[in-house]
Amino acid sequence: MRVQHQRRRPTQTQQPVKRRRTCRFCENDVIYIDYKDEKKLQRFITEEGKIIPKRVTGTCAKHQRQLVASIKRARHLAILPFVNDAVR
Ligand SMILES: [Zn+2]
Repeated sequence: MRVQHQRRRPTQTQQPVKRRRTCRFCENDVIYIDYKDEKKLQRFITEEGKIIPKRVTGTCAKHQRQLVASIKRARHLAILPFVNDAVR
């Protein structure tokens, strides 16, 4: 019996999704993240409605904290969804 060689995946060097580690809010000197700004907040949640981790977006800890608070506030006010099950 011959053992077939398993195809190995080409080794890829792991890279973060985004290379530049600049915080979008720091770039624009944002002091306060508006929870009413739906479009801005939507860029930081997935289609499912989850908050995208800062390691993906590159947002700094300070702004990520504010962003999370804003998203939660927006959810409470039904500006943003808690879960979006439109995509399945
Ligand atoms: Zn920042």
